[in-house]
Amino acid sequence: MQIKRLRISGFKSFVDPADLVIEPGLTGVVGPNGCGKSNLLEALRWTMGENSARSMRGAGMEDVIFAGTATRPPRDFAEVTILAEREGDETEIVRRIERGAGSAYRIDGRDVRAKDVALLFADAATGAHSPALVSQNRIGAVIAAKPAERRAMLEEAAGIAGLHVRRRDAETKLRATETNLTRLDEAIADQD
Ligand code: ATP
Repeated sequence: MQIKRLRISGFKSFVDPADLVIEPGLTGVVGPNGCGKSNLLEALRWTMGENSARSMRGAGMEDVIFAGTATRPPRDFAEVTILAEREGDETEIVRRIERGAGSAYRIDGRDVRAKDVALLFADAATGAHSPALVSQNRIGAVIAAKPAERRAMLEEAAGIAGLHVRRRDAETKLRATETNLTRLDEAIADQD
């Protein structure tokens, strides 16, 4: 998967709609302290499904919505769009949050669950917790990680993290089916 464009509106310091075109050769974003460089990476991770307000440097998830300045009123919503190319096809992933209404996700215009977005990125060996996105102070966390945590990082890098989610889902369905079968056996035995 290649992320080609990030469209940000009302997210943190990006009050007006802004487009970041990610072209081959882009190696860095520079700017004065506090101009929003980290907010760009956070917009990317947030759209990929990040659900920890703390890792978005806020107390609650609504803190990602533009909070207003001396000259501009706060916004009611934040929306970030990732335009990505997968196997030659373009895909648009949108996350939107409204005050008091929570988050909603869309893939190519279709309403989807957070889980669908997480799976899409996990299958492409990227995502909100991907080792490909290294935020400040993460290096220390990698060094200090326990073996199990380091294994999870390697699994994400290898693009197999999504398999664990599917396996858990399959196991839940299997258990439900086994319960139904037992009930069925009991019902048949009662009739005999
Ligand atoms: P540094 O070089 O110091 O790491 P940076 O360029 O990475 O800085 P960010 O940390 O991305 O900057 O941006 C911080 C700015 O974003 C601050 O000015 C802060 O006031 C602003 N900001 C963060 N959240 C919001 C919000 N919800 N509404 C408005 N502005 C916000």
